[in-house]
Amino acid sequence: MKQSQLFTKTRKEAPKDEVSKNAELLIRAGFIHKEMAGVYSYLPLGLRVLKNIERIIREEMNALGGQEVLLTTLQNKESWQKTGRFDDAVIDNWFKTKLKNDTELGLANTHEEPLSALLTNFAKSFRDFPLYIYQIQTKFRNESRAKSGIMRGREFLMKDLYSFSRDQKEHDVFYEKAKNAYHKIFTRVGLGGQTYETFASGGSFAKYSHEFQTVTDAGEDIIYIDEKKRIAVNKEVLAPEVLKELGLEKKDLVEKKAVEVGNIFSLGTRFSLPLGLFYTDEKGEKKPVIIGSYGIGLGRLMGTVVEVLSDEKGIIWPESIAPFTVHLVSLLGDKVDVRTYADNLYLKLEKSGVSVLYDDRDLRPGEKFADSDLIGIPNRAIISERGMKDDKIEWKNRETGDIEMIDEKEFFRRVPRTVHV
Ligand code: ATP
Ligand code: MG
Repeated sequence: MKQSQLFTKTRKEAPKDEVSKNAELLIRAGFIHKEMAGVYSYLPLGLRVLKNIERIIREEMNALGGQEVLLTTLQNKESWQKTGRFDDAVIDNWFKTKLKNDTELGLANTHEEPLSALLTNFAKSFRDFPLYIYQIQTKFRNESRAKSGIMRGREFLMKDLYSFSRDQKEHDVFYEKAKNAYHKIFTRVGLGGQTYETFASGGSFAKYSHEFQTVTDAGEDIIYIDEKKRIAVNKEVLAPEVLKELGLEKKDLVEKKAVEVGNIFSLGTRFSLPLGLFYTDEKGEKKPVIIGSYGIGLGRLMGTVVEVLSDEKGIIWPESIAPFTVHLVSLLGDKVDVRTYADNLYLKLEKSGVSVLYDDRDLRPGEKFADSDLIGIPNRAIISERGMKDDKIEWKNRETGDIEMIDEKEFFRRVPRTVHV
């Protein structure tokens, strides 16, 4: 893509009421637009990052045997009344609306109820299970504080997978596999080192749910980490009995602020019983299905990457989710041959499938470099009169700042050809 054609422009300042670093950088660099507090639109650069995150998550969910669906946001209240979750006193962040005939609807904040109810139409025998069903879909939550940029949206994309197993053992095996898939996802998006499997409250049928918490000062949670074991305990469940049960000792734990990037739950029969999701086993006996749910917020993950991987100049995207893997920057000066060479190089890159943003704008070098630092594409290739004299391209690493002068052959050896949007 040519930068001269990108409709977004970088900005010196973010909106005055924006207090989070992720939103400030993403708005200034032109990745997102703030519609209102907790409500953000994704612009071309931002959507590319989101799609890359989506691709990684989808690959890992498919590898788990997940079948993808897309459920509705508008929800009937009946299923939710059966499980006792329609009342605002039970879930306090519902957005609700009404049809013209006064029928009350909810804008789904999660999908245990509708999916379990839907499945009763299809799955009835032991032969129909286990099932792993997921979606990447918009959730609405009327969050009371929305000051964390895209890490806490009132409208946000969630990947939610639900597992439907025949018994607890079958559930437990899948739950462990899902945990591994989550670790893979957070590692692939560049947060492996900072993300901890964390014991938390919330499993209806297990003592704990497992959160995946990424250490950052922008986080709203407090966790206690055992660095050697690489696990943590959320403050909400921290108690002497819990530590004893988990084989942890207070003296080994370090307190950190963190953000919950993912959460997985063992729900047992909490939803299958009220919603009537049963199956008939080999002996003809009727049994309730054992359910698990597994969530990741895509925008929250993107915002967390920005919080963790950025410096005073801007964002530093990991290659796996960067909007482009190469930022080709031509310093035009007054030489026609610089432009011609850069134009040709851009065409060659596009042709060989490299994901490249080409800064072909007629701006001063300082402005182009500042924009490039802010946008944060991991590799920068600078075409200048100075380099061209020796047939060299300047190759700069955004993270380390290292610069090398390389020839075109070496350049083509280095450009990443990762699968990308
Ligand atoms: P929190 O405690 O931070 O409000 P939660 O525990 O209510 O989150 P879950 O219901 O567990 O969230 O949702 C599953 C995942 O969806 C979370 O782990 C998080 O990654 C994401 N998520 C939840 N709420 C939001 C939000 N308001 N904006 C963006 N992502 C969110
Ligand atoms: Mg949670």
